Amino acid sequence: MEFSTIKGFKDILPEEVGPWQRLEQTARHVFHCFGYREIKTPLLERTELFSRSIGEETDIVSKEMYTFHDSKGRGMTLRPEATASLTRAYIQNRLYHQSPVQKLFTIGPMFRHEQPQKGRFRQFHQIDAEIFGDPGPMSDAELILMAMEILRLLDLEGLTLAVNSLGCPECRPGFRSELSKFLAQKTGALCDNCTRRARTNPLRIFDCKVPACGQAVAGAPSVLDFCCEACRAHFKGLQGYLEEAQIPFRVDHRLVRGLDYYTRTAFEIQTDLLGAQNAVVGGGRYDQLTQQLGGPDLPAIGFAMGMERVVALMERRGEAMPERPDLFICALGTEAGKAAFVWMTDLRRSGFWVEMDYSGKGLKAQMKRAHRLGARRALIVGEDELAAGKAVLRDMDNKRQEEVALEGLTSHLQQALRQND
Ligand code: ATP
Ligand code: MG
Repeated sequence: MEFSTIKGFKDILPEEVGPWQRLEQTARHVFHCFGYREIKTPLLERTELFSRSIGEETDIVSKEMYTFHDSKGRGMTLRPEATASLTRAYIQNRLYHQSPVQKLFTIGPMFRHEQPQKGRFRQFHQIDAEIFGDPGPMSDAELILMAMEILRLLDLEGLTLAVNSLGCPECRPGFRSELSKFLAQKTGALCDNCTRRARTNPLRIFDCKVPACGQAVAGAPSVLDFCCEACRAHFKGLQGYLEEAQIPFRVDHRLVRGLDYYTRTAFEIQTDLLGAQNAVVGGGRYDQLTQQLGGPDLPAIGFAMGMERVVALMERRGEAMPERPDLFICALGTEAGKAAFVWMTDLRRSGFWVEMDYSGKGLKAQMKRAHRLGARRALIVGEDELAAGKAVLRDMDNKRQEEVALEGLTSHLQQALRQND
């Protein structure tokens, strides 16, 4: 029997991994510049952590979680997102004692039992960043700017930023009841899901992808008309900072996001290049969550970037050339092989990518392998060269060759190879 990956799970093969690495490196660089520290939390958590934070009525908790019971009958769930886990870690480890403001990021896989399709998998990866302990709106702007900066450094095009305010416990109930009244007139026009949501969680309806529901809510009230003074001032402040930073955005009063814990700022970075899966980054403020999970009353905001979708955009645009070895050493004969092994090890320790052949093949076969690997240069050395104290260095791109002395060879090579930079 031959095994294969589970539906919705996939391998990322060595030839595909380039853009993943570039994305991760870019994100780490940007996090460093913005002062975010990495945190790693377990993939498995108690089910209640997610049901209590994300919300029972959300798609994630109601149908997408990978949940099982351990031998003691406790519910365990593979994390569907990172915010709940990071909030748990912030509380459990009393990170707020070091300083209430903690800027954290994590990168890793998430699990959701959804219908796999383009840009949608059951195991997918997110780059996640959170600021705990600051009420904003400057931190809201910082976080959004940071997500935009990662995408800018990757030269991605066609991305737009949508922002909204979802209000707070002061003003959202007013909007909610007004929306419920509006939806009560539309019952026949909504899908089964939304008919249920109209009672349990009416804001969710804006997130429904069924076209009939989109039409039905076209004339629905706007959350922004119900925001209290403090929420208005916060949202205005955020927009001001985005303008200062010259980040174009559009206000979308229908943007609600798929998780219940958001308050005030919600945002998405969207693309029109990936079909239905248009959200590349989603985020928002969740000022009640730390308290709701048993911690102190401290505000927070975060985002999650879908790595598969960013990588799809990078691939669509065509990535830069794959990396190439700096040098391939073609050594002929046992003695030359031994010497080559030492030179190779020296150069690798000095930071160069060097390859050689271990199987004692002839020159032609070795040169063929050097070509296949895309090596920039080849060093050719046989027993004769060894005896004469010299070798041939060949530039594989322009085919020019030069003789190099074996005495002081590695420092000469280091100089030559550095010219590739
Ligand atoms: P969507 O509306 O696309 O389902 P979501 O609201 O469920 O997104 P979040 O939970 O906010 O998404 O996750 C943040 C980001 O993670 C998304 O914008 C998307 O880029 C990515 N993402 C979410 N679910 C998946 C998935 N199943 N496969 C791949 N990427 C995903
Ligand atoms: Mg979803």
